[in-house]
Amino acid sequence: MSARKLKFKTELNQLMDIIVHSLYSHREVFLRELISNASDAIDKLRYEALTDRSLAGADTVWQIKLIPDKEAGTLTISDNGIGMDEETVIRELGTIARSGTKAFLARMKEGKDPSAPELIGQFGVGFYSAFMVSEKVRVETLAAGEGKTAVSWESAGKGDFVVGETTRDGHGTDVILTLTEDAKAYLEGWELRNLVKRFSDFVEHPIVLVTQEEKDGKQETKEETINTQKAIWLRAKDEIKDEDYANFYKHVSHDFADPLHTIHYSAEGALEFKALLFLPAQRPFDYYTADPKPRVQLYVNRVFITDACENLLPQYLRFVKGVVDSSDLPLNVSREMLQDNPMVRKIESNLVKRILGALDDLKTKEYEKYVKFFQAFGATLKEGVARDYANREKLAALLLFQSTRTEDGKYLTLDDYIGQMPEEQKEIYYLCGDRIGALRQSPYLEVIKDKGQDVLLLDEPVDPFFAESMGEYKGKTFKAIDQGALADAPAVDEAHTQAYEKLVKRLSEELEDVKEVRLSSRLRESASCLVADEGQMSAQMERLMKQFGGGGGDAPRVLELNPDHAAVKAVLALYEKDEKSEDVLELGHLLLDQAVIAEGSKIKDPGAFARRVNLLITKQGA
Ligand code: ADP
Repeated sequence: MSARKLKFKTELNQLMDIIVHSLYSHREVFLRELISNASDAIDKLRYEALTDRSLAGADTVWQIKLIPDKEAGTLTISDNGIGMDEETVIRELGTIARSGTKAFLARMKEGKDPSAPELIGQFGVGFYSAFMVSEKVRVETLAAGEGKTAVSWESAGKGDFVVGETTRDGHGTDVILTLTEDAKAYLEGWELRNLVKRFSDFVEHPIVLVTQEEKDGKQETKEETINTQKAIWLRAKDEIKDEDYANFYKHVSHDFADPLHTIHYSAEGALEFKALLFLPAQRPFDYYTADPKPRVQLYVNRVFITDACENLLPQYLRFVKGVVDSSDLPLNVSREMLQDNPMVRKIESNLVKRILGALDDLKTKEYEKYVKFFQAFGATLKEGVARDYANREKLAALLLFQSTRTEDGKYLTLDDYIGQMPEEQKEIYYLCGDRIGALRQSPYLEVIKDKGQDVLLLDEPVDPFFAESMGEYKGKTFKAIDQGALADAPAVDEAHTQAYEKLVKRLSEELEDVKEVRLSSRLRESASCLVADEGQMSAQMERLMKQFGGGGGDAPRVLELNPDHAAVKAVLALYEKDEKSEDVLELGHLLLDQAVIAEGSKIKDPGAFARRVNLLITKQGA
């Protein structure tokens, strides 16, 4: 293999720019990131080697070495982990593998300040942070296993990188940083000791500082382990400072910001394990695009097993980060064994109980913090209502809602809602849509608000599914107010029914795309609205189904007209003058179109809509 020059993907160039310039004041994190990568690489190989002895000998001494070389101006971070082959090097170090990074860049293009803490916080910089302190980064790596060749990767972080062949004794990776002039402090032993203490002290593998010392006129190599390697989750809670928790959280999550909340406990008795779990303060960028599997790390007696144990946490708690260390599972447990393991199931239900309990606590004792949590991850919790039947009520009680009565940024719970329901109201009313602002203006709310009743306003994509699967809470049925009749809605009065009978019949027959036209008792200010029949999919649900490719079709809905509205009365007057009038149909179409707009859908034929409006305008001027 001869050396090859390859280009970074464009986005990566931009990313590098941002990292180097915007995160400058945090640049010491490069060491934590590279040590984390080294530690992950060792964990991976150690785990693989449990079942495949040919990969690494049982006597392997796992180590991460920090080797400053003042003469050459380089700092090397070296590990004897799993290493990378050529393909992996190009894939992992030459493209943006993580979709979150792309989302970050998209936000940048919108002109958001890249150094804003909330942006940085949602985004882990990883390997590329090396360029904050380096003119040049060289990687020399050998993948573990038979017949592998060592690969080199080198770049100045400016558009391209060179991949070539090299030699290396044994598997693992060296990351060799040629430090920039103003980053030379990272060649000093005291500085490295200091950073490791602050950020990486709990890393399970020894971090060994390798320095040259002059002794009796001769250069001698000195090796010294500079981290205590004490697994933070095994320590007593009162010994651990918030800062220690925060640093560990950043190590496991690659988050820049401190965690919002920490759950640290030890289960004893029939089931023994330690758990150190964190709620992040904000939603990561790639939250909705990344693999939705929970990524809590599983250890067995301090040995890392996997961060992909699917049954350790349910998917709806995937925002939780952290570590579970069990002493009940065998050390050589394979990933397959973890698949349907009763012990893992037991740990899971214990974790769920604890996490839901902690959330409930947070809600009661630190409401502001809880609101912050809920704004980031509340939609995910709602998934749990459909997926975790046993915890349905508990989860429902944790949910926060906006309603016609809440002010912007304020919330109520289902218990609050039920507590305020007027006597005659039997159901929990809700309305789904895309934006709370638009929902507040919805014609469906008019009569309900008039009666002093409240409606939950739901604007998350998950909401229609949530409301359907929720079904009821404490004996009160969930009822979409744009679907079917309301249990306590008044009937349309007889005089109106008679006056409009023939017009309604004509419009029902001649308006395409509606199932039926009828008079409404749910409107006050608006002239018309569309409702789904009982058991029919709501407009919002239909849009979602289409979005997710689930079909769902355009089931025609019912057009309801407000018999007291001046516009509707005018159509009636026109009809009474001339039952065959074409204009009656044109105006009927306009009543339908405004109902379509009001429910947040798109008009089918915008051209025809414009033609009808123009007709009206022209008549007005004539
Ligand atoms: P992350 O660690 O969050 O995945 P990075 O940008 O830090 O992102 O690293 C990208 C990938 O490069 C890693 O996921 C890993 O596959 C590979 N990698 C980085 N450093 C090492 C290392 N020391 N040994 C083996 N693989 C590594």
